[in-house]
Amino acid sequence: WDNFTQTVIDESAGVTFEEINSLNDIIRPKMDLITKENFFRIFRLDLYKQCPFWTGTEGFCMHRSCAVDTIDDWKDLPEIWQPEALGALENVSRVPESNKASKDYCEIDEINEDTVYVDLVENPERFTGYGGDQSFQIWKSIYSENCFNLGQDQCMEKNFFYRMISGMHASISTHLSNQYLDLKTKQYGPNLKQFMFRVGNFPDRIENIYLNYILVLKALIKLESLGILDNFEFSNQDQLRDELRDMIMPSYQLGDNTEECLFDENSLFQSSDAVEVKDEFKQNFRNVSRIMDCVHCDRCRLWGKVQTTGYGTALKVLFDLHNAKEIREPSRYEISNVELIALVNTFDRLSRSVESIKNFHTLYDLAIEKE
Ligand code: FAD
Repeated sequence: WDNFTQTVIDESAGVTFEEINSLNDIIRPKMDLITKENFFRIFRLDLYKQCPFWTGTEGFCMHRSCAVDTIDDWKDLPEIWQPEALGALENVSRVPESNKASKDYCEIDEINEDTVYVDLVENPERFTGYGGDQSFQIWKSIYSENCFNLGQDQCMEKNFFYRMISGMHASISTHLSNQYLDLKTKQYGPNLKQFMFRVGNFPDRIENIYLNYILVLKALIKLESLGILDNFEFSNQDQLRDELRDMIMPSYQLGDNTEECLFDENSLFQSSDAVEVKDEFKQNFRNVSRIMDCVHCDRCRLWGKVQTTGYGTALKVLFDLHNAKEIREPSRYEISNVELIALVNTFDRLSRSVESIKNFHTLYDLAIEKE
């Protein structure tokens, strides 16, 4: 691991693991506060949508740890969410909200009778016991979306797609290893063996987590620098906007030209058939987001949806939002509350993964010393 942490993440990234670790040390406490705010801790979704790809998803994860505690009475929602919930109640019986999303990178659930609101802080992502053939089938289908039928430059976009998925998978594995159930004590805590087996023994998986960290952070930097955060109504929590800015600011210190040095999205989708390549990329990632409705474990599905929506939003911001002028056409490039909440929580997941990797590194060194 020692040499590894000094390595430059990626030729195009130009930033080391160590630099990201230091940045994350500054960002982590700020993210802790932000994700506990009412605006960011509540996620709206349809938890019971039919799997669109295959039948036989009736198998349920019966563990208590697979369950999600939903906020059943919308009147119990924090005040900031009341207007949306009440408006939704009135509209549900009328025309369903049109899914504007065919141009988006992920499918976002419409508000309907099955809509639920979930407090993410009360339903943490951790070990649930979900596994075996069922979860294997899901991951297999997700990776199979990596099959592109692209033109000449397919390697770059295909490689990027694969790394993003692998980084998401590795981040989920890191969380479940960090919050693993000890059957003796019935407590959740770090399990080094699980981490090494799932992530630590695979440098490429760790690398992909860091790459996703940069990807999502860059999307947040772009939203901030284009002034899009000003478009959000944080109700009486205007300070939240400042907290968010304050969290993003230190990442500018990484280099004079952070936007260039972190991850160069401009190197992708440059071939002569870029339009088709991007369409296919978009379609494939949309399918990944739809596969989340096939996940049998509710808690895993919840966090799977949060994260695919978060990555989908990051892709939309980085690849489709070109300049501030376009933002004035909100119907084309609107970023909804759900998308911003998913983006911020996905960054929180990655930031926690980076912190956990550091902690597992220490545990690993201690275990080696003992041997
Ligand atoms: P899996 O993690 O299922 O991996 C299957 C195969 O994929 C491996 O054998 C390996 O060949 C390959 N692989 C593994 N990791 C990577 C990687 N990073 N990059 C590339 N290839 C890889 N379980 C929980 O306990 N809590 C959760 O919150 C949770 N959320 C989930 C969310 C989703 C969307 C899905 C599909 C599953 C989730 N699971 C969760 C289940 C968990 O991800 C594993 O599937 C389960 O623990 C079984 O693990 P496994 O060892 O069989 O390997």
